[in-house]
Amino acid sequence: MKELMAANWKMYKTWDQASATASELAGLLHGKLPAGREVLIIPPFTSLKAVSDVLTPIEGLHVGGQDFYPAQEGAFTGEISPAMLADLGADYALTGHSERRHVLGEDDALVGRKTAFGLEHGLKVILCIGEKVEERKAGRVEEVLARQLEAGLADIPKKTLAENLVVAYEPVWAIGTGEVAGPDEIQTAHGHVRKKLQQLLPAIANEIRILYGGSVKPDNAGAIMALDNVDGVLVGGASLIAESFSKIVLA
Ligand code: PEP
Repeated sequence: MKELMAANWKMYKTWDQASATASELAGLLHGKLPAGREVLIIPPFTSLKAVSDVLTPIEGLHVGGQDFYPAQEGAFTGEISPAMLADLGADYALTGHSERRHVLGEDDALVGRKTAFGLEHGLKVILCIGEKVEERKAGRVEEVLARQLEAGLADIPKKTLAENLVVAYEPVWAIGTGEVAGPDEIQTAHGHVRKKLQQLLPAIANEIRILYGGSVKPDNAGAIMALDNVDGVLVGGASLIAESFSKIVLA
């Protein structure tokens, strides 16, 4: 299984800024990426093509979409389909990012529809899950992760390959806050995720990559990557600067 180092640029960077960061990143990573690692940049839709033109010719570098709508085409104003993402060079996409769940109101059922539809239509999908601070304080982490995984994976194609499905554990309280989860918290949560995957998808569970996301920085990435069941990271803020993200990728 290849480790996945993913950058979520959220709603940052114009076309010019995204192109410049992608070019800088290409210079920093070209020829340096270890064989067992791949890199994924997830820019806003508007810069997907610019970023993919620069990065995807380089072995091991991929681009992805932050979201998509679960339909091939139609009267869905403001939305974008998996085929449109692929057309711009994307092979991955996120579903269920915490900001889509908690700022934009997506529920477990919609996240499940998107995850299934994306996989059915040729995307590699990164299903994001994670508990809120009050759920952690109430001792409900395992229950919340299990619920999000059950709903998120309920309708995925039976023949889904492990390499096409990724789970990102992102505790909501650690996203964009500077408060990184501790090693025990990460390892325990990733253990819960692996166990639940073994129940839900026994044939592929051990090969599904589980990423950690939440205030990953160059100075904590190496220690996080060394933890059990951590197969990569999903990075927001620290991925916006090429030098800082390249240090995380090479940590
Ligand atoms: C994210 O956007 O998925 C994320 C983890 O953000 P940050 O690294 O800024 O916490």
